[in-house]
Amino acid sequence: MNCFNHPDVPAVGVCKTCQKGLCIVCAYDLGNGIACKNHRDEVEARNSITDVHRVAAVFAILGCIMMLSGSFMDFSTDEKEQILQLLGIVMAFLGAFFFWLGNKIRKTKSK
Ligand SMILES: [Zn+2]
Ligand SMILES: [Zn+2]
Repeated sequence: MNCFNHPDVPAVGVCKTCQKGLCIVCAYDLGNGIACKNHRDEVEARNSITDVHRVAAVFAILGCIMMLSGSFMDFSTDEKEQILQLLGIVMAFLGAFFFWLGNKIRKTKSK
């Protein structure tokens, strides 16, 4: 098989999305496969959504740690403990919000 854009150049692989043959010049390595120029942007936009999910996971984990440490740590005042637990709940909510946002963006993009 030869490249879709350069018919006399042998292809090194096919685009993950449109299955067109691509030579070394036309192929873009995405880590888990290759894409043509047109589909590289599309795939990259889809990949960036995992970043939103990563942020969500960080917030959720931090929120849990804060809530737990609020209950286990021996603070001098109850007030500090309550503030930490409140912050933990806010972080967990933010995490849930980012998960929701990530799924929403993915649904709109993958149409
Ligand atoms: Zn393509
Ligand atoms: Zn080519």
